[in-house]
Amino acid sequence: MRIVLLGPPGAGKGTQARRLSESTGMKHLSTGDILRAEVAAKSELGLLAKSFMDKGDLVPDSNIIAMIQQYIDDPSGVLLDGFPRTVVQAESLDKSLKEAGLPIDKVVHMSVDTDELIRRLSQRVMCTDCQTPYNLDHSAPAKAGVCDKCGGEVIARDDDKQEAVMNRMKVYQELTAPVLDYYKSHGDVAEIKAIGTPDSVFEKLSQAIGTSVSAN
Ligand code: AMP
Repeated sequence: MRIVLLGPPGAGKGTQARRLSESTGMKHLSTGDILRAEVAAKSELGLLAKSFMDKGDLVPDSNIIAMIQQYIDDPSGVLLDGFPRTVVQAESLDKSLKEAGLPIDKVVHMSVDTDELIRRLSQRVMCTDCQTPYNLDHSAPAKAGVCDKCGGEVIARDDDKQEAVMNRMKVYQELTAPVLDYYKSHGDVAEIKAIGTPDSVFEKLSQAIGTSVSAN
């Protein structure tokens, strides 16, 4: 099974995809997490990606498309979080999946209004080791600055700082919102309002996907 989670930065795609991955065994494929690991490893891709990520810009399509190829036919099923983010990426994903004989089973759009997104991102912190996200408003780590899961350092992401956040919202409207129209014109998109507690959003998401989620 392949599920695409769409939504603006701060909609909770990563949080929900992690939970869904834990409950179904599907692979959580977050291009943001992969890129942050590349940045931390100071790889060639990481060094290139950092200059775009710090400003809130998108990393070029060609780099992203090459990066995800190895993951999309995972036999456990895949939850796509943060990809595709441009129509070019969506078309490329369609082509790769068609060649592999694998369909996209569900596209879910998680919507949240802009004021709430900005508020959430200003309170978001993340583990630099395992990338678990926290929110200082309602789900802070038990010990300030320390990850509950792995003991890693928990800090704000550079691209959650105000200037980068405003640019990410603009980039989302210009380049990623058309991906939603792309999927709507190709089939069904399940719409959920991603507001309320993470538990209540998870319930809406599970319903949107179908309660009997199978891994392949
Ligand atoms: P995220 O963790 O999904 O918010 O992604 C963080 C940053 O990584 C984005 O602001 C982009 O700079 C970059 N990024 C993640 N996914 C993609 C993608 N599919 N295409 C281009 N850039 C991406």
